[in-house]
Amino acid sequence: MEHKLPTLSYELGGLEPYISKTTLEFHYGKHHQAYVTNLNNLIKGTAFEDASLEDIVKHSEGGIFNNGAQVYNHTFYFEALKVNGNESPNGKLLEAIDSTFKSFEKFKADFSKAGATLFGSGWIWLVVDTAGKLNIMQTKNAGNPLRDGYKPILTMDVWEHAYYLDTQNARAKYIENFWNLIDWDLIEKRFEA
Ligand code: MN
Repeated sequence: MEHKLPTLSYELGGLEPYISKTTLEFHYGKHHQAYVTNLNNLIKGTAFEDASLEDIVKHSEGGIFNNGAQVYNHTFYFEALKVNGNESPNGKLLEAIDSTFKSFEKFKADFSKAGATLFGSGWIWLVVDTAGKLNIMQTKNAGNPLRDGYKPILTMDVWEHAYYLDTQNARAKYIENFWNLIDWDLIEKRFEA
């Protein structure tokens, strides 16, 4: 099965001024594409040749895992960004966020702090555990919560390649910008799925 680079629902310059066209040209056009190309090359002739991306993320190791998870993580990240993101979620997701984190503002502060304090490269996640409860998780490198039985519903890439061209060393500024781009309608759908 050939894995493909997903089509974006926005133009490469559509997320400006929060994420630049140049960043997307590299982050989506080069990095994400390279993970897809590497994965397709690595799975040839292995047990994962016809596996779904989710099964690769859950069960593979080494290079196949690193590239497969990076394909999954980037697709999950880019899919949940949009031009003029929603200010906040609504409905059941907002109720769950309020009851777990006290308020949406407190959730944003906790998630942002998780992003600022992850040392090195990785991802910040909002996940649902097997009891249906929300949690914020940090994973290093290509890490993905599916491996530990969590259902991810939102992710933020904190690898330097996600922000260095726009905000240089200031990861905190990238995190602040991220909140302007989230498609909370989609995150609600993932939560209720
Ligand atoms: Mn990335």
